[in-house]
Amino acid sequence: MPLKIILMPSIFVLLFLSCQEAEHEQRIMTVNGAIFSSDLGVTLIHEHVLVDWIGADSTGYHRWDRADVAERVLPYLMEAAGRGVDAIGEFTPAYLGRDPFILLELSRRTGMYLITNTGFYGAVDNRFIPAYAYDETSAEIAARWIDEFHNGIDGSGVRPGFMKISVAEHSELSPLHQKIVEAAAMTHIETGMTIFSHTIGDIPALAQIELLEQLGLKPSSWVWTHAQTGTIEANIRLAEKGAWISLDNVMFDPSRDEGQEGSIDWYKDRIIALRDAGHLNKILISHDAGWYDVGEPNGGGYRGYTDIFDFLISRLLESGLTDEEIEQLLVKNPANVFSLRIRSAK
Ligand SMILES: [Zn+2]
Repeated sequence: MPLKIILMPSIFVLLFLSCQEAEHEQRIMTVNGAIFSSDLGVTLIHEHVLVDWIGADSTGYHRWDRADVAERVLPYLMEAAGRGVDAIGEFTPAYLGRDPFILLELSRRTGMYLITNTGFYGAVDNRFIPAYAYDETSAEIAARWIDEFHNGIDGSGVRPGFMKISVAEHSELSPLHQKIVEAAAMTHIETGMTIFSHTIGDIPALAQIELLEQLGLKPSSWVWTHAQTGTIEANIRLAEKGAWISLDNVMFDPSRDEGQEGSIDWYKDRIIALRDAGHLNKILISHDAGWYDVGEPNGGGYRGYTDIFDFLISRLLESGLTDEEIEQLLVKNPANVFSLRIRSAK
């Protein structure tokens, strides 16, 4: 049989397969609407623009001047764009300074994809939980988050792309925090948004995975946000189950010794240990930086978004990570974790 005839059908098969792939390509919700996950690019998954520490009973859009905040923040975003950053997950929750109107403006002026969130932040003795949440059921709370996903936040037209919740440090889940995790699970089943949970230490991480599994969710629906505060053993144990491990406070601090907890070398070692255990595809890295603090003059000290590019990547390459593995950390894993899809065990 001539070679041409053998090749012809396989070309059709290839065309068919690539069409199928495009159809099944995942979507990510940015502040400007949905995009294909393959368009996201180099992403810092967990950073901040604004924060208001005053508490849920007093915060609101009246607390800051949007134009002042945008002017202060813009140069830092442009600096990150200069390092090749295409997208940023903005992690400031509602009642803590989330402002979709500023994010729209910053996305327009930088050309970056910005992604915002829905959810409640339960750490710090519930200071940032609105009073109504104490009385509402998990289903009522979930209905609020699902409404934001479908109809946008506060009339801005901006839809959240993920959930950000948080629970108390180093402890089992309180009834209120259990309710918040349940609301997150219900919202996930309705919307496919990934649950990022501020979780300090192993105990609340293991407790949340246990609860989510009881509720029928796969652990891959959940991100251990601030997993650097847990042990490597617990990081590996939860990554094995499918959970995401977010090492999100990368910061170059010359006063820290190499290898000391939180140093660039410490992050490098943690990433290599997780990779060597077979979990590179579960690691997320970021700075948790930014923070225009509305309680401080001109927002106080602002931390930029560049240390990963200026310090960590070269250290990872020296330690044997390949360019493809760096791409996995900065492009593929973020595209995967922000993709909207329901991860139910049923
Ligand atoms: Zn954060």
